Amino acid sequence: MSQTVNERTQGNGTGTNGHSKTMIQSHAPATGELLGEVPVMGADEVRAAVARARAAQQAWAALPLEERCERVLRYKDAIVERADEVVDLLAKECGKPRHEALAHEVMIVADIAAYFTKVAPHALAPREIPLHMLKHRKSVLHYTPRGVVGVISPWNFPFQLPLRDVIMALIAGNAAVLKPSEVTPLIALKAKQIWDEAGLPADLFQVVTGYGATGAALIDSGIQLLVFTGGVATGKRVAAACGERLIPCVMELGGKAPFIACADTDIERTARGIVYGGFANSGQVCIAIERVYAHREIHDRLLTRVVELTKELKMGDPSTDWVDIGAIIFPQQMDIADKHIQDAVAKGARLETGGKRKPGPGQFYEPTVLSGCNHSMSVMTAEIFGPVIPFMSVASDEEAIALANESHLGLNAYVFSGDRGHGRRVAERVEAGSVLVNDVLLNGGMPEAPFGGIKQSGFGRVMSDDSLREMCDVRHVNEERMATPVDPFWFPYTEKSYKLFRKGLGVLFGGGSVLDRLKSLF
Ligand code: NAD
Repeated sequence: MSQTVNERTQGNGTGTNGHSKTMIQSHAPATGELLGEVPVMGADEVRAAVARARAAQQAWAALPLEERCERVLRYKDAIVERADEVVDLLAKECGKPRHEALAHEVMIVADIAAYFTKVAPHALAPREIPLHMLKHRKSVLHYTPRGVVGVISPWNFPFQLPLRDVIMALIAGNAAVLKPSEVTPLIALKAKQIWDEAGLPADLFQVVTGYGATGAALIDSGIQLLVFTGGVATGKRVAAACGERLIPCVMELGGKAPFIACADTDIERTARGIVYGGFANSGQVCIAIERVYAHREIHDRLLTRVVELTKELKMGDPSTDWVDIGAIIFPQQMDIADKHIQDAVAKGARLETGGKRKPGPGQFYEPTVLSGCNHSMSVMTAEIFGPVIPFMSVASDEEAIALANESHLGLNAYVFSGDRGHGRRVAERVEAGSVLVNDVLLNGGMPEAPFGGIKQSGFGRVMSDDSLREMCDVRHVNEERMATPVDPFWFPYTEKSYKLFRKGLGVLFGGGSVLDRLKSLF
């Protein structure tokens, strides 16, 4: 058990922890209530789970795609039927508001299942690729399941993120073994329980619980693809472990989303977008707004409105009240917020609102807005993953773009402008996997579009038809369209055939017009 993970989970809840190396206790971050405990699974158990998944995958892959889709839809129906159960647990174990549990987790999972079962027959159908030169041959790409897909996931969207990858893996004909975050294992087990109780093949989708070592064991257990979502530091270790074993992997890592507010933007909508995009799930969102670059012409008005709206937010226990802001997952996340806020204030930033924990049971941190920030402050450069929105005034869009791109991360970015064309032109210059114009967070629930980062935010993509195909091995089958009695590429190599090729090179690829090149033949 690594020290970091140990420290982190020991702090989760009331402080009265009962963690041992064999069991993990899950506490509600809003109250400290003990919700349950799960085993820490060792390497042998993980290997056995993967072996069972592999055996189940054979029969699953042999089913026609339409039948696999029909079963995945049965899972979706069961999830929708039991949505309130899932929402209740998300509000408890994750401390997130019930609206977010429903809209950001359950609804997105249902949509992903509905969307990918609809498009899979087309997306995974054999595809002919036209050959531009070798017209006598025909090439077709076939998408075949990889085998067992490993999924390692974080705690901030403990239902949506893993099930997104599991569902896509299953539709593509794979088995899936999920290692959920040690902080939110009960949600993953609820997803598994719904799968089993819907009468679906138990071994095909399995959950292995534990700390990082259990995740490391999953990578070492003979999986064919890993989809990892988590922090940059862990991602580096996980990518290295995959590289060591030559396992293809998708890395969905941290973010530091910039928000560019242009001079012509509508203040009210922009302010509401910032407050929602920065404080949903208490800012514990990889695509949360983590830094605002506001044009100086509107900076003060925008800041004033953001502060007003922030003060209106209602914070509390989401499992007993209708709140906008829920709990923080564990105390270390609040320490991180404190550290960056203190650094910013020490370097001249102004604390407009928030900036402290709420006393009493549970872990709550006031939504915080800072102004007068700049890139010498860690609050503008390091991922915070908490309810903190730092503002910086800029003289031009050029300056905002340069600052937005001055980051080691590049997951999401946002541009707000009253002129759609202008917003788009700015967006096209921001270095990020996705840039939204005049909206926030929305691409997390856009299954058609590829989701993922550049720079240290990771590589590979989830969602989109391309990512569904990435769940497969691509088999290129090339066959003849017509018989060729003599093949000029084959033996014997003669002077005559060499000269023919030499002429061919000039005609096909030489300079000048096609006519000139053809003339050179005679
Ligand atoms: P984390 O990196 O601490 O843990 C992620 C998962 O990796 C957990 O299940 C953990 O047990 C496991 N793990 C730890 N060490 C491992 C090892 N050596 N081998 C295999 N698995 C190991 O991340 P977290 O704190 O749970 O989540 C927060 C981070 O996730 C943030 O940085 C956030 O930006 C990022 N995130 C990214 C996305 C995205 O789509 N890009 C989405 C959500 C969260």
